[in-house]
This record gives sequence, structure tokens and C-alpha cells, in this order.
Amino acid sequence: MKNKASLSGDAGVNTRLAHIGHDPQSYHGFLNPPVVHASTVLFPDCRTMEKRDQKYTYGTRGTPTTDALCEALDELEGSAGTILVPSGLAAISVPFLAFLSAGDHALIVDSVYAPCRQFCDTMLTRMGVEIEYYDPEIGAGIETLIKPNTRLVHTEAPGSNTMEMQDIRAISDAAHRHGCVVTMDNTWATPLYFRPLDFGVDVSIHATTKYPSGHSDIIMGSVSANAAHWPQLKDAALTMGICGAPDDSYLILRGLRSMGVRLEHHQRSALDVAHWLEGRDDVARVLHPALPSFPGHDIWKRDFKGASGVFSFVLKVNDPSQFKAKAHALLDTLTLFGLGYSWGGYESLAVPVNLLDRRIRRAPTDGPVIRLQIGLEDVADLKKDLKAGFAAAAAA
Ligand SMILES: *Cc1c(COP(=O)(O)O)cnc(C)c1O
Repeated sequence: MKNKASLSGDAGVNTRLAHIGHDPQSYHGFLNPPVVHASTVLFPDCRTMEKRDQKYTYGTRGTPTTDALCEALDELEGSAGTILVPSGLAAISVPFLAFLSAGDHALIVDSVYAPCRQFCDTMLTRMGVEIEYYDPEIGAGIETLIKPNTRLVHTEAPGSNTMEMQDIRAISDAAHRHGCVVTMDNTWATPLYFRPLDFGVDVSIHATTKYPSGHSDIIMGSVSANAAHWPQLKDAALTMGICGAPDDSYLILRGLRSMGVRLEHHQRSALDVAHWLEGRDDVARVLHPALPSFPGHDIWKRDFKGASGVFSFVLKVNDPSQFKAKAHALLDTLTLFGLGYSWGGYESLAVPVNLLDRRIRRAPTDGPVIRLQIGLEDVADLKKDLKAGFAAAAAA
């Protein structure tokens, strides 16, 4: 593209992914942005320094590299501004610290990413924030839980590991009637398959560690806010000294270029495997929002544009004392699926899911939950691997 301004507003998503962020004309025509390693930025004179009257002033306050990524994320999210943080977990803790004070009450979805619960139950609680967990499928009923001191409602859809869908529009509307900030962890869908701000969310959170990175080699998070919440979010990041690293920012922007085509592959392969699992007698249930059999399917269909490659299934095991042994037998037999945390990379992963921290949405009783991340491998090979796992579970 000869010049970024010619990218039309109705361009398709892959066209936009190929061109957003960096304007080649701003840096000698090079297609990719420079990786700027910086602390000091020089000023021409004291007046400029005093007024901070130039675009860049210090390494923590943004560079052409971090700006290129933040601009790309703003275009995808429809946000007024984006901060970069050192991990997806920090993309949750930083906005919570930005918007919560001692004496406030926060409503957190019970199917939340587990380390978020740890942050809430330890540090936020110690600082005097009252934490309450709510049912992911509460919808507009969230209003009954809102108290005069409720300041923040945190959502995540689908829920971590068990994939419950949330009616984000209904929750946002109820929360806003009481002046609450609504945050959403949108890591699973990415802004390509769901745009939280279009559904009333104020602050959209991402572990860019996952699909934007795409290669399991970067830890980074992003937080994008609407115009009303951007100043307070930005101030918090600057006040705490939190910023994105140059090489990581460069690589996340690089990952975004191919995220659309990668996601299409993840989506197709994951659905193929999910349907195949659903047809097996040794599978009790498949927890995937794009399956019509899944309880939150209608919300997913109404609000989301697609599904990524992470979902879970319940292995059918009658005797609860056998849950662990059967799940371990299956997982230890897999060879293509790696046994490891995180997801969004090119390689398939499988993990046993521990739901002991849940307060409301307890672990299923019809068998152990196993989470899959379907990578970029060929589906026939993945099914072969899983088949061997099921045989081992049956024999265990
Ligand atoms: C992985 C993940 C995070 C945390 O990301 P890290 O970069 O690993 O800290 C946050 N939210 C969700 C939903 C995740 O899956």
C-alpha cells in the first residue's frame, strides 16, 4: 500500500491487519517500524523540555515501536487508547489498580482466568477492595448484586477452561446504570471475533501472549479503553512505570499481520476436532461455544464473529475416584499435543483442568475436564494422537 491514509474504512479484516499500525512513509518507506531501544530522548532546549512540547519525551512514555502496536490495537478494538504491559496478567491487575480504591466493591466473573482470582483474593483484598464472584450466565441479573460502592464489573467470555458465555451487552448496561466500570478479558476471541467496546465494555484486556504473538515466545498484555476511561488508565500506567518492551512490541505487531489467517485455521481445525469428540462414546460433553449443543451457543452466535482454537471436553468417567488417573493416562499418552500452559501458538496443547478454586461454577461431576488448544498441525494427525490417548484412558 503506497500510503496508509488510502486504507478505506470498509476494508476487510485481513487487509486491515496487513496495513494498520505503522505508516511506512513515517520512516523512510520501510514497511516495518524501527525497533527503538530507548530511555533518554533529547530535547532541543529548556522551553521544549519544560512544556514537554515534542512527541516523545522518555522511554516509558512511548516510542515509535510501541506507538505502532498501540495504534494497530486501537484500530482493531475501536478504542481511544491502549497501554502495553509486561504480561496478560498485568493487563488485568493494572486496570484494576487504575479504577479501584479502598472501600470499593468489585464483581468478578466466577469463570475468570485463575491468576486474576489470586490477585483479587490477596493484593486487592489486602488493599481494602471487597471482591465478590458472580455466575457467568447471570446476564442482566447482575443488577441485583450491585451495591452503592460497586465500582467495577469484570467479565470474560467465554470463561476460562469451562467456556461459559456471558451476555456482555446486558451486563454492561446494568453496570452503567450504577456508574460501574466494565472490564472484559477478550483474549480468547481477539478483537477479530469480538469487539467488547461495541457491546458497552469500557476496558478491553488481552494477553497478547496468545494469538497476537502466535508463536509461544512472548509474554505481553494490552489494555484498550474507550474515551471516557482512557485518561485514568493511561495515568495509572505512567504512575506505576509500566510500559511495553521494544522487541516484544515489534514481534506482537509482526504477529498481528498473520493473525487473521492463523485464526481461521485454528477455528476450522478446533471445530472439526470438537465435532469429532462430540461423536465419541467416551466423551461426556464438549465445551465449545460454536457447538449448537453448548448452553451459551445462542449468545456466541448472536455476538461473536468466530471462535478461536481453545476449548475443553469432559472425559466420561463414572467413578470420581478415577477422574485423575484417567485424565493423566490420556494426557501422558499424547505426543503431538504438548503438556503445557498458555495457548495461541502454532503447537497443539492439552492440559488437565483444575476447578477447585471455583465458588459458583463448580467442577463437572460427569468426568474430568481436559482443555485443548488446537494448533496449526493437520487435523488427521491430531485426531490420531487423541485416539491413542482415549485408548490409554480406557485401559487405565
Ligand atoms: C493467558 C491468559 C492471561 C494471562 O496472560 P499471560 O501473558 O500468560 O500473563 C489472561 N487472561 C486469559 C484469558 C488468558 O488465557
